[in-house]
Amino acid sequence: MSKLPAQEPARRALLKRTAALSVLAMTGIAGFTMPTVAFAAAMTKEQRDKMTPDDIIASFKQGNMRFREGKMQQHDYVAQKQASQHGQFPAAVILSCIDSRAPAEILLDVGIGETFNARVAGNIQNDDILGSMEFACAVAGAKVVLVMGHTACGAVKGAIDNAELGNLTGLLNKIKPAIDKTVYSGERSGKNDAFVDAVAKTNVAMTIDDIRKNSPVLKKLEEEGKIKIVGSMYHLVGGEVEFLS
Ligand SMILES: [Zn+2]
Repeated sequence: MSKLPAQEPARRALLKRTAALSVLAMTGIAGFTMPTVAFAAAMTKEQRDKMTPDDIIASFKQGNMRFREGKMQQHDYVAQKQASQHGQFPAAVILSCIDSRAPAEILLDVGIGETFNARVAGNIQNDDILGSMEFACAVAGAKVVLVMGHTACGAVKGAIDNAELGNLTGLLNKIKPAIDKTVYSGERSGKNDAFVDAVAKTNVAMTIDDIRKNSPVLKKLEEEGKIKIVGSMYHLVGGEVEFLS
């Protein structure tokens, strides 16, 4: 697909449909191991609106399976950029850690225009993150709020070890309630990887509780069945995004 003029929505839509058809054709060739491509261009409003929150979660699980198997979609970022430059219809908003090894869009094999992404050390919520999520769901129509923690999280470890540094100290304080709340019978220290991971998991659950408590907007959308708020843990070893609810 070569350069598209910016002012030709009808032609863009047609090209998108054509791309989707060629994808169907491509994946139908028996014995030919071409990666599957769900959305050759960016996600359209029609595609997003047809999906339920459960459909979106299922598609994330499939995307993560492709990532784990090394069979990711062939992302045509130029086509995705061009298709989304006049509007976006993302299916979800993801809150994850800044950890360089945990980029949600890659782990879930999604492209430009498919997810909103908020990243902060230790995937905690605050007013600005909640405001972003409210925009994503109540204004832009996203149907899933996905909180993603990960194993071997340095922020969680720092909170357990009472690390102190500038503004980081205050951020780590927001993770600390998850330490006390974690039921764990072994060594409760930052040196114990299993304990760090257990606290990270509790932290995801507490972040979700905080989202419901501090955002009446999101809580109402969830109660109306318009969105789902779910937690997950990304395992650095193996690459699984484990959905917790
Ligand atoms: Zn982390």
